[in-house]
Amino acid sequence: MSVLIYVDHADGHIKKSTYEALTYGAELAKQINTTAGALLLGTVEDDITSLGKYGVTKVHQLADESLNHVDAQVFSKIIAEAANTVGADVLVFSHNPSGKAIVPGVAARLKAGLVTGAVALPDTGNGFVVRKTVFSGKAFANVSITSAVKVISLNPNSFHTTEGEGSAEAVALNIAVPAGKIKVTSVNKVKGEVPLTEAEIVVSGGRGLKGPENWGIVEDLAHALHAATACSRPVADADWRPHHEHVGQTGVQIAPNLYIALGISGAIQHLAGVNRSKVIVVVNKDAEAPFFKAADYGIVGDVFEVVPKITEAVKKLHS
Ligand SMILES: Cc1cc2nc3c(=O)[nH]c(=O)nc-3n(C[C@H](O)[C@H](O)[C@H](O)COP(=O)(O)OP(=O)(O)OC[C@H]3O[C@@H](n4cnc5c(N)ncnc54)[C@H](O)[C@@H]3O)c2cc1C
Repeated sequence: MSVLIYVDHADGHIKKSTYEALTYGAELAKQINTTAGALLLGTVEDDITSLGKYGVTKVHQLADESLNHVDAQVFSKIIAEAANTVGADVLVFSHNPSGKAIVPGVAARLKAGLVTGAVALPDTGNGFVVRKTVFSGKAFANVSITSAVKVISLNPNSFHTTEGEGSAEAVALNIAVPAGKIKVTSVNKVKGEVPLTEAEIVVSGGRGLKGPENWGIVEDLAHALHAATACSRPVADADWRPHHEHVGQTGVQIAPNLYIALGISGAIQHLAGVNRSKVIVVVNKDAEAPFFKAADYGIVGDVFEVVPKITEAVKKLHS
């Protein structure tokens, strides 16, 4: 058995969730007494040999610039071929938008059992059992993979990153890039300081903000914390904020280290997208708001009074 970890990247840089997947894959390799390697499709500005710090011995790279944008059909074909070339039995991805798009195709091509949204290292004591979240994060399932080849996608922010010493060997992959059936004609990037799915801290606003004209207090706090902004669904439905900021069951699902909910009631559909956050802080004027049950810290108060004070305090701390 050997473990191969997919390296996700954008704009020339390796994504944070990749470091978690690398650590996960390397620890799994240790657990089953094998080696871990990384697989990079496309080109990055980062030093790929430094991925050795996360426990991989080799970085297999297909350095073709046409692969700098993900085409799931093309990628799954190449990754399946790469897995056969390097002899990988366990493939690890991050369960982020690229990972979600690629893994079904990879698993189908390799006739592999697939577990998406893993949250812990597999139990390999008797078989190969992977713990994953189900029902929008409200429960866990332990899923046994019985196929020879196994594919796992790891929920972002559910596993630590361990950075040690060491350098990986960069190995060029010799695989022909198949012609894609789709062509990316334009890319419209979301503006903002920090992409929502990659953000360590997210400041989110709900209907309690009363209207889009009041979003300055959300943005000021986000700016002070170098955080991304998000919102509840009715806020996006009312066009107070763009839809890409809507988090929850029907929106983006996130797991930042800190989620600050301002004037959001905490409906189950909202919680489904944010309840994997490490720490949740809620500001709501209604002490009975359901969100307080899911909160680590709560302030019962008016957002228009409380939030500017928090922002001031954060700015003072930084200065
Ligand atoms: C199938 C389905 C899918 C859904 N998917 C999603 C989803 O993905 N994401 C999502 O968010 N919702 C989703 N919803 C909607 C969800 O059920 C709630 O209606 C929604 O989350 C409520 O948004 P809110 O908390 O912003 O607004 P409200 O429920 O109106 O709550 C506003 C909160 O602000 C507080 N407040 C008011 N004024 C102040 C003030 N001045 N200071 C402090 N607090 C104040 C109030 O006490 C209240 O708790 C879905 C619903 C359905 C049926």
